[in-house]
Amino acid sequence: MLKKNSIYTVKITDINNLGYGVCRVEGIVTFVAGAVTGDEAQIKLIKVTKSYCVARMEKLILPSEHRIDPECPLFPKCGGCVYRHVSYDYEKELKRGYVESAFRKAGIDAEIAGVTSDNKITGYRNKVQYPVGKNGEIGYYRTKTHDIIECESCLLEEPVLHDIKRFISDFIKENTVSCLRHIYLRCGAATGEVMVCLVSEKKDFNGLSTLCNEVCERFDAVKCFAINVNDKDTNVILGEKTYILRGRPYIEDELMGCRFRISPMSFYQVNHSMTGLLYSKAAELCGLKEGESFIDLYCGCGTIGLCIAKKTKTAELSGVEIIPDAIENAKINAELNGIENASFICGDASDAPLKKCGCVIVDPPRKGLTEKLIAELAEADIERIVYVSCNPDTLARDCAVFIEKGYQLSKVYPFDLFPRTGHVENVVCLSRKSTQETKQFPVN
Ligand code: SAH
Repeated sequence: MLKKNSIYTVKITDINNLGYGVCRVEGIVTFVAGAVTGDEAQIKLIKVTKSYCVARMEKLILPSEHRIDPECPLFPKCGGCVYRHVSYDYEKELKRGYVESAFRKAGIDAEIAGVTSDNKITGYRNKVQYPVGKNGEIGYYRTKTHDIIECESCLLEEPVLHDIKRFISDFIKENTVSCLRHIYLRCGAATGEVMVCLVSEKKDFNGLSTLCNEVCERFDAVKCFAINVNDKDTNVILGEKTYILRGRPYIEDELMGCRFRISPMSFYQVNHSMTGLLYSKAAELCGLKEGESFIDLYCGCGTIGLCIAKKTKTAELSGVEIIPDAIENAKINAELNGIENASFICGDASDAPLKKCGCVIVDPPRKGLTEKLIAELAEADIERIVYVSCNPDTLARDCAVFIEKGYQLSKVYPFDLFPRTGHVENVVCLSRKSTQETKQFPVN
């Protein structure tokens, strides 16, 4: 049995998607924070279990060729980036490997494309949600804790958001505001419009109207200033009620030639230029022919479906989404973009009315699809299902079920919407085997 605090010299052989270097110590898999594939290092075991160990790097004897200077004083204390200490080329390789292994674990021998990226690895995030401490400190959580590390300017974010954050931070410290839980900011990358949403335990506090007025007057770009009330003791950031204090209840942005209204409660991808590339691939995989209708499940404010509808002369688009404000946005977004044959329903995607159509797009949250929805999609005999996913593990799990039900998996296309973090987006197409066979061997 290995002993805690013992020291070993090891060669690191991999990095996992949490950014830990991986090696073996007397055959036991060991995770080393900050270590990189190829490093030779002296490590100290800080946790020993029967199946794995966790170690700290004591001394880097020979650095890996993949290493770079992290350029961020908060790395790796802040839980945001996990790959800041390796070259971006190597990060893309790691992400492709992560997707490949997710499919392998699900029993699928999938073909994985190289990671698509625009190689913009700083300033790409147009949405931030900073936790706020009781003394007004604003920043990010230290990895695996709820301690806040103050963060002056995060390299991943749109710089305009830093100035607003700093202004709010100074104000709440000066005015000893203690009821704020998060500062949620979003910026339209194409329009520059900014939304400020304070997430607070209370609907009002001393100084709120002054703060609102000062932010809006100082920062012209702010078009929507809101307060969201969350008094529940959970990890969910946003509460149910949002009140608009100044400006409009939305910001607008442009994406792939479409204009979108986005409310504070609506989902909108955080990386604008990569989203265009992702949606273009989704559109290509949908393979819609003129006049074919399609369904967009988990449609948010309608972005994927409307971008595709604008480019293809489709018969009809039906979208389903659970957040009412996002559905309101989607309906208006269809009008704004002159798309008449679109309808949007607010509800659970698993209860969506499915009808025979050219294609169904699904873009669920990290937990993936329900078994019920997969069964119903297969039952409705949908020919092509384009699956957009931010979680390779649940994507692979769900693809395995579709394959069992007679679907064929396309190549898997990873898109790096989140450079430097452990996350990677993917899109695949699942098509009915029978339709392809029918094409080759006509039944009649
Ligand atoms: N396709 C959109 C949104 C994807 S994010 C885009 O690209 O912008 C996933 C969306 O699923 C979110 O908008 C979330 O509110 C929604 N959602 C979560 N659970 C849902 C459910 N059970 N039924 C329908 N929509 C759901």
